[in-house]
Amino acid sequence: MIPFMMYFQWPTVKLLLPQILLVVVLLSCHNDPSNQSGLSPEQLEAAYQSYHEPSLTHRRFKHSEIVPLIQKREQEFTVEVLGQSIQGRDIYQLAYGDGPIKVLLWSQMHGNESTATMALFDLFNFLEGSGDDFDSLRYLIKSQLSLRFIPMVNPDGAEAFQRRNSLDIDLNRDAIDEATPEAQILKSAREAFQPAFGFNLHDQQIYYNTQGSSKPATVSVLAPAYNEAKDINEVRKKSMQIIVGMNRILQDEIPGHVGKYDDAFEPRAFGDNFQKWGTSTILIESGGYPNDPEKQYIRQLNFMIILNALYEIATQIYHQYEVEDYFAIPDNDNKLMDLIVRDVTVEQRGQSYQVDLGIKQQEYRLDSGYRVAGAIVDKGDLSVFYGYNEVGAEGLQFRPGNIWKGTYTSLNEISEQKAMELLKQGYLAISVKKENKGDSHQLPLLVVTEEKAFQSGHQIGNAANFFLQRDNELRYAVVNGYVIDLNNPKLPLPSQHVF
Ligand SMILES: [Zn+2]
Repeated sequence: MIPFMMYFQWPTVKLLLPQILLVVVLLSCHNDPSNQSGLSPEQLEAAYQSYHEPSLTHRRFKHSEIVPLIQKREQEFTVEVLGQSIQGRDIYQLAYGDGPIKVLLWSQMHGNESTATMALFDLFNFLEGSGDDFDSLRYLIKSQLSLRFIPMVNPDGAEAFQRRNSLDIDLNRDAIDEATPEAQILKSAREAFQPAFGFNLHDQQIYYNTQGSSKPATVSVLAPAYNEAKDINEVRKKSMQIIVGMNRILQDEIPGHVGKYDDAFEPRAFGDNFQKWGTSTILIESGGYPNDPEKQYIRQLNFMIILNALYEIATQIYHQYEVEDYFAIPDNDNKLMDLIVRDVTVEQRGQSYQVDLGIKQQEYRLDSGYRVAGAIVDKGDLSVFYGYNEVGAEGLQFRPGNIWKGTYTSLNEISEQKAMELLKQGYLAISVKKENKGDSHQLPLLVVTEEKAFQSGHQIGNAANFFLQRDNELRYAVVNGYVIDLNNPKLPLPSQHVF
């Protein structure tokens, strides 16, 4: 093949460079048979590793932390304030690219659903990059797409890390009523832009599994219905095709961990209405993944599938996907718990009963972050449920724990080793002076400021603190819903708080 430089003078080439680059990109992805369906998971992972935003490290960041990350982008992006939340926080939109296909991406209309927001900042870093293997991909996106991002639709909700806005309204039920300024802003942004594609970015509870499997639905997807009949028109079909492309990446990364969200038509929701208004809408719901409480791996997955989708929209290769492959994605189910203790013997009124205990860990907000509290949420035959962790307790008896009678002045007085000794003697809690309340620790027992804060029992609603024993020998401790094998403890526990 004769290099094209031989035919053209440099000034001409320079002028035509964008078009040439585009042709090269399009050819390179169509010539390579292994690459027919788009980018490879390895390429997407490499992009994430190079460009993820290092200042976002956990999911409870606030509006004030992302404002500087938005404002510094005025070189590569058009940054605009669309309006203010009820409490007066600016709601930003960032625009990138000047191609013919318009795409709107919005995140965190539910304030405590921030996983995809982090991924958008990773994507901004990526789009701003240059001088690496991804230049042609960036050029493709920039020249074929016009992107608009609203990274935090509900900044007041984010401040309190709560779903609803500060008026206690669920913005995703306010698409028609428009009682809230935040919903008005999102709706106006769509009307002004008229995007062909929309990405509606959320988190779902971590207890969703994929139907018929114990695997968490780490990412769930939906091409929302635009009517009660759930018809498939051209607009909705494209959403399904984009999702099939995203699922290709996800099945490689997290096989079996992708669920399909319920597509019952919700007349008040944004996704359903975007679809109705003619924007092919893709819902991404970030769920749970083992040992990823801050959802940093799930954030990476979001980055990968969104970038992949943008590529497939820019090249229009999504047309090759079949709607049937969308419907083949398993439905979401809601059968997970944090811990299931199976077949434990409990006693009541002198009688023994064999039961399963199901435990979930709720989060409670603190001034400094949050605290986790494990509680028994179900009891009996839990054979249809799955646990992120499970203990087979056949032949083991439930035994309540005690609080150690004595008070420490501060946490510094007790080591992990001392705490383990107390635990093995049947103490599940110690108390410290009140001024320690809210302090974090990683001791393998509860630390409370008042004795009455400690609870141990097997009734539904009880805090999940107990022992499992065989013939009076303690085998396991369950501390705040975390299970500790007393013969082989894996320490330290995730961060705990004095309460
Ligand atoms: Zn949501």
